[in-house]
Amino acid sequence: MDRLLVRLPNWLGDALLARPLLHALRGAFPRAEIRWVSPAPIAELLAGDPAADAREAWPQGRAARRALGAQLRAWRPDAALVLPSSFSSAWFAWRTGARVRIGYAQGGRSLLLTRALRRGPCGERHLSDEYLELGQVMGASACAVPPLAVADQARAAAHELLRARGAGEGRAVMLGPGAIYGPAKRWAAERFVELGRWLAGEGGQVLVCGGPGERELCDQVARQVGACAVALAGETSLPVQAALCAIASLAVCNDSGLAHLAAAVGTPTVAIFGSTSSAWSAPLGARVRVVQRAPVCSPCFQRRCRIGYRCLTAVTVAEVARACREVSA
Ligand code: SF4
Repeated sequence: MDRLLVRLPNWLGDALLARPLLHALRGAFPRAEIRWVSPAPIAELLAGDPAADAREAWPQGRAARRALGAQLRAWRPDAALVLPSSFSSAWFAWRTGARVRIGYAQGGRSLLLTRALRRGPCGERHLSDEYLELGQVMGASACAVPPLAVADQARAAAHELLRARGAGEGRAVMLGPGAIYGPAKRWAAERFVELGRWLAGEGGQVLVCGGPGERELCDQVARQVGACAVALAGETSLPVQAALCAIASLAVCNDSGLAHLAAAVGTPTVAIFGSTSSAWSAPLGARVRVVQRAPVCSPCFQRRCRIGYRCLTAVTVAEVARACREVSA
């Protein structure tokens, strides 16, 4: 293998769960040129990761995607690994002309792949192991994965942002009350407020973070936690958000990209799960605690619940506080 292409998932959390595969490929093919294709913010986040030689941003619009396909075809990849489960991602791999195309057989795309693997029931194996299997087909094997590196520039920008928002240089904890997926992944905002007040009582700043669509929620939580809390949702790029995660001594988030990011940079992380399966997609990291109360209907993978969000209401503040103490110990 001289040239290896990897189409990464579009969701931040899933892309970070692909890191064991990416490092396994680097280990198995140290001299190969490895390129990843991912949404631009993820490409920017992973820019410092030595497991790739080049990162291509997945463009918007058909014409730009056709142009990227043509550019990669001219590069002549020996193999393409397709991590997203969509038909279009397998189609894209086929258009690059890669001789070997490996992915899971789903969505009617087996004819586009040269190795279409059977996927077991969701949650039977962790998603990172499923991704790793795609590399194992080519002889790659699991290896140690270093924490995600935070660039100096991003760290400086994070400190600058904290200074600008009046946050001190002392201890900080992070709350991530959002989840783009939907309310069936969101623990109640008032419970985040109660937890935030308890954490603030332990000393330090509370950073309430999230994406641009979570500004209102984060503002509301920060306001109710009190003067020691600052809302930063939508104010950073992913590298700067990673730096904020690294600055924090603890992160408490819903099952979201932010939880995966905090875990990836090595911050002690508590992840609260609702409708999805922690056995399948818990964040990876040496210091991660999952809090999940799974009723008989779990996991349903629904974005909204019709029967009262029992999986989330069963998770108490006391239980999450206990997980915070354990993971920080
Ligand atoms: S159906 Fe069950 S697992 Fe799904 S969101 Fe509702 S309570 Fe949670």
